[in-house]
Amino acid sequence: MIHFDIHSREAVATFSGYRDQRLPLMLPDLQHLIHLQEIDSATDRARRRVADIPGAQQALESRAAERAAAVQSVKDRIAATSNTRREIEKEVATVQARLSKYKDQLMAVKTNKEYQAMQTEIVTAEGLVRTQEDRLLDLMEISEKESAELKTAETSMTSEQAGISAERKALESEIAIREAELQRLTTERAQVVSQISKQSLVIFDRVAHGRKGIAVAEAREGLCVVCHVRLRPQMFNEVRRNASIVQCDSCTRILYFVPPPAPAPTAQS
Ligand SMILES: [Zn+2]
Repeated sequence: MIHFDIHSREAVATFSGYRDQRLPLMLPDLQHLIHLQEIDSATDRARRRVADIPGAQQALESRAAERAAAVQSVKDRIAATSNTRREIEKEVATVQARLSKYKDQLMAVKTNKEYQAMQTEIVTAEGLVRTQEDRLLDLMEISEKESAELKTAETSMTSEQAGISAERKALESEIAIREAELQRLTTERAQVVSQISKQSLVIFDRVAHGRKGIAVAEAREGLCVVCHVRLRPQMFNEVRRNASIVQCDSCTRILYFVPPPAPAPTAQS
């Protein structure tokens, strides 16, 4: 028993798989045109996929670049923090040098007024040192946080990189697979085309050209399944015979009919 799963995308393939031995009445040109359409649709899908691959590769590279940029931005902040720390440390050292000079000078002052003035200088300088030392403590805390952030960003970059390089490899092998597929389809197409009459091929090419590559359509339940227009009953009957090249009145596609499943054998004999 032949079962055609006419609702699946495999319908045409299943149908044409049986084309020779099971449906001897189907017009050979029609069988070959169905096959040609399968090849062209498969070619189109493979080409589209190949065309999509560079975009997918670019998306991968930008993901990788994003992670690297995140790591770099933490590194930049770390560098800025440590620059600030160094500057403050230098300033503290300068103020401390000034302070010890003041303390030496304090011994040499002659008047009470001079002594007071020097004391004020010392207090101011000591205040400045304390303020800057507090800032250094804050900056050390910030540095610690930034180091932790760097570790997180680097871990995330590493794990992302592993995924990205796996996807990169998958895309590369897909290119090879699709190219082999396209080559196989080209060979198969030439072989099928050589079996089709010139007139049928001219119709196929013309319709395919005007209908985005789909020149062949199944007719089911009185409708063209591609353009959904109802066929005249007489035309549908003609299509059901699969014995001639019939074109849809509306979309001009070449129509074929998939017979319903054969009835199960009955018990009476
Ligand atoms: Zn149609």
